[in-house]
Amino acid sequence: MTATARPALDVAAIRREFPILATEARGRPLVYLDSAATSQKPRSVVEALSDFYLTSNSNVHRSVHHLAERATTAFESARARVARFVGAPAPECVVWTRGTTEALNLVANAWGSRNVGPGDAILLTEMEHHANLVPWQMLAKRTGARLRFVPVTDDGRLDLEAAHARLAERPKVFAFTAKSNVLGTENPVAGLCRAARAAGTVTVVDGAQALPHGPVDVTALGCDFFAFSGHKALGPMGVGALVCRREMYDAMDPWQGGGEMIRRVRLEESTYAEAPIRFEAGTPAAADAVALAAALDFLERCDPAAVHAHEVRLTAIAMEALRPLGVRILGPEDPADRAGIVTFDVPGLHPHDVATLLDGRGIAVRAGHHCAQPLMKRFGVVATTRASFYLYNTEDEAAALADGVRAAVEYFRR
Ligand code: PMP
Repeated sequence: MTATARPALDVAAIRREFPILATEARGRPLVYLDSAATSQKPRSVVEALSDFYLTSNSNVHRSVHHLAERATTAFESARARVARFVGAPAPECVVWTRGTTEALNLVANAWGSRNVGPGDAILLTEMEHHANLVPWQMLAKRTGARLRFVPVTDDGRLDLEAAHARLAERPKVFAFTAKSNVLGTENPVAGLCRAARAAGTVTVVDGAQALPHGPVDVTALGCDFFAFSGHKALGPMGVGALVCRREMYDAMDPWQGGGEMIRRVRLEESTYAEAPIRFEAGTPAAADAVALAAALDFLERCDPAAVHAHEVRLTAIAMEALRPLGVRILGPEDPADRAGIVTFDVPGLHPHDVATLLDGRGIAVRAGHHCAQPLMKRFGVVATTRASFYLYNTEDEAAALADGVRAAVEYFRR
């Protein structure tokens, strides 16, 4: 995912589709720089959601009546939409989940419980979100497997030499993020998957921060599993997916039992439906899935590569303006390697104070450990401030961030 010269996004036109961006916060125009936590939603996504409930609402896959058929068709079309967006060969490769967290827990349980045993190695990295650490810790505890980690360099990249050395030890699974939610670092996913495949290691890619911000092609990446959340990619909260290489289904057991995922149920035992339904127990978030498809339509119209280039530009503006203020920016120096995410520490100021002062100017950023406590520890901080940009942010907003931080530094210096 590199920045290339492309036509600039029509940000003004994009912003008109997001009514919330025209509102005020604390009496100032809202500057929303927290899209890595969750993105705002365009009108078409909200309309798709309400349209489902107003015109098609019914449970899916259950009844033969007209509405049930409408709902099921919309729901399954949304699955096909996701498959197309991520370059999966078939809709059946997509398992609906509540989001990245549930998708990663699904792999750790459905695949992990069957395939990981005492003494096996589970390879992770130091830059993982808690969602890609804790499920594996739980699996290791259950099975007696060992956890191994790829270290992070001082400039916030994976230590690739160490990654290859660890892969040469043939771990059972390598679970890693495509893009760090703290450092913005874009990892060389395809190369790592290739090395893992050569070692006989299954790959699990956390795509939560990657999918919203650039083109994704799981086939080209060569991963076995790819997890993402809809809500960071203009879609609703509560829906996401685990995209699986189809062959992986043969090595997975059902993880949640209930309605929908079965073929036949007897009092003592059951048989199960084919994947992906086998991994989708209970009533799914059908309306949210349909609205997620609308979000992907919106993103595709904007051209994911153009979105990425726009974010690189805003990141560069913010980093250039922040550097002279004496703030420490975590992660790669080059904005092209960390599009959209600027996490920083203002020496002597608590991130919550920085965020509160920015909030007073209508600027929304996130302060805290960003669900990556081990990574905070790696960089010797407890918390940081994170500004994150998306396709609807402007150059003026990137400059406003730096102005706000400058004001915070001056305020506390006094
Ligand atoms: N991984 C990464 C890299 C993330 O940024 C997030 C969300 N902050 C998650 C996983 C978890 O996503 P969700 O809360 O949507 O399940």
